Amino acid sequence: MALRQLISAESIQARVTEIGAQIDRDYPDGVLYLICILKGSCYFHADLSRAIKRDVFLDFMGISSYGKGKTSSGEVKITKDLDISLEGTHVLIVEDIVDTGVTLDYLTRVLEERKPKSVRIAALLDKPDRRIKQVKVAYSGFQIPDEFVVGYGLDYAEKYRNLPDVCVLEPDEDDSVTG
Ligand code: 5GP
Repeated sequence: MALRQLISAESIQARVTEIGAQIDRDYPDGVLYLICILKGSCYFHADLSRAIKRDVFLDFMGISSYGKGKTSSGEVKITKDLDISLEGTHVLIVEDIVDTGVTLDYLTRVLEERKPKSVRIAALLDKPDRRIKQVKVAYSGFQIPDEFVVGYGLDYAEKYRNLPDVCVLEPDEDDSVTG
């Protein structure tokens, strides 16, 4: 497998700073929870929360939708739930990437049932070509083509999460099967 840089660490930081400033401008007073969707959003959540100057509260949720490979199982399961109640709070779901939209469509509905004041989505990456469920992404970092990416939290079979850049993972030429 070969890695091709798609978005540099510097570009990511610059965009995250802009999104943080936008969130500061948009949100009224009141409790704002940034919900990290584990594990892919861990760096985005950490960086975005520090780019926001107003008070925020952090929590973490585990979701599984992709299994260990590159294709979605189409199934969404909560593997770790929040520690807190969302009633009366503003909720910002912090996600690494929106692909088909199935995960965020499900998650938004689950969290809305918990009676928050508002639920919005911040996603670092967006692959609009692949959408099956229309989800409204309030804060979107970068639109990317339909390619499998890793780095800055995103993995392939748990590898590559700690790469500082977002890279496309492509097969080496000599990986192709002949004969
Ligand atoms: P969706 O439900 O929108 O199809 O998928 C969302 C989840 O699929 C993301 O949170 C992420 O875990 C995974 N995913 C989608 N596209 C990619 C990709 O290009 N690379 C990686 N590593 N994960 C992806």
